Amino acid sequence: MRRNEKVNLMGLTFEQMEAFCLSIGEKKFRAQQLMKWIHHQQVDDFSQMTDLSKSLREKLAEIAEVRLPRVITENISRDGTRKWALEVEGGGAVEMVFIPDGRRGTLCVSSQVGCAVDCSFCSTGKQGFQRDLTTAEIVGQIWLAGKSFGPRKNLGQHPVTNVVMMGMGEPLLNYDNVVDAMRIMLDNYGYGISKRRITLSTSGVVPMMDKLREDIDVSLAVSLHAPNDELRNELVPLNRKYPLAELLAACDRYSASRTHKHNTITMEYVMLRGVNDQHKHAVELERLLRGRPVKVNLIPFNPFPHSGYETSKRQDVLAFHKYLNDRGVVTTVRTTRGDDIDAACGQLVGAVKDRTRRNERWQKSIFLRTEQQGSAL
Ligand code: SAH
Ligand code: SF4
Repeated sequence: MRRNEKVNLMGLTFEQMEAFCLSIGEKKFRAQQLMKWIHHQQVDDFSQMTDLSKSLREKLAEIAEVRLPRVITENISRDGTRKWALEVEGGGAVEMVFIPDGRRGTLCVSSQVGCAVDCSFCSTGKQGFQRDLTTAEIVGQIWLAGKSFGPRKNLGQHPVTNVVMMGMGEPLLNYDNVVDAMRIMLDNYGYGISKRRITLSTSGVVPMMDKLREDIDVSLAVSLHAPNDELRNELVPLNRKYPLAELLAACDRYSASRTHKHNTITMEYVMLRGVNDQHKHAVELERLLRGRPVKVNLIPFNPFPHSGYETSKRQDVLAFHKYLNDRGVVTTVRTTRGDDIDAACGQLVGAVKDRTRRNERWQKSIFLRTEQQGSAL
């Protein structure tokens, strides 16, 4: 933290905002007003907070701020998907993606700059780990997405209705900041998003899955990707630390702690041609998941340069899907959205670099910064 740094109110949960108000000699209820100005009205300038006294506004301007990552680019896809590249302090960039679907608007939120897990098929993993995002930088992504749609007449109608923690990074390796950010997303003075509409996706950090279960009630998705340890060790290196038996036991504990209606865990399974998409894998997967309250989401692999993998053949995806569904394992195939702007899963920032090579003007500074950081690792 910088010396004399102002308190960034963007990243405070309601309780922390109350504590902040008390700490500066104000009444607790000011926390409600501040939260509403920041998260409902999307105001980041204290002078516009008109129901606060002038002296309080001045005091706040001296000791606090509402600071957000800087938007570097915003791209809108043919299908309405939007992708932003955000510059975070200290260099480096993260991305967030908004996916509209009828009345639903899902924001795919990043939790870290880069990722240390290094899954073999993920472009974020290839970039290495740079740093954790702060709570303000995580929840600020919703703020920025909302702001990009312009002023709203009805403050209750935020364009972001659903959040998936499926952008860059492993959210459970940035536990405290991610959980505080999700608290602000859930809070009615924050974004008031219902707990079923916030999904955290993890590559399987078992002890943190247990902690999550105790601390907060959100939906869980697990990046499974393989039906046996040998293959999963290769695709998701974290499996060597927390093998399938331990991961599934943690999933069972998670499901058991939720009500019957809301105990389903989504198992993500990226389809890699000839690697994990054959009949024998479907057979093994069905055996592994049989009787568990899970649904499987098959994700077509999104290629990036030098990944070494190919997208599965359509008929293999359909056969895999049918095999599982026929045996009672509810399975869906994720549709690829925003691929014309490289906004699909696993294409984040890796694609930023690639595009930069094709277009000198596009994000050159970020490219250079990311490269420099990468070589310093
Ligand atoms: N780190 C967390 C969340 C971010 S990744 C996790 O791994 O679960 C979100 C999802 O995108 C994961 O299921 C991940 O496996 C998947 N993904 C990563 N790279 C991909 C690619 N190139 N194509 C398709 N899906 C990918
Ligand atoms: Fe990290 Fe998830 Fe990518 Fe694996 S898939 S490297 S855990 S972001």
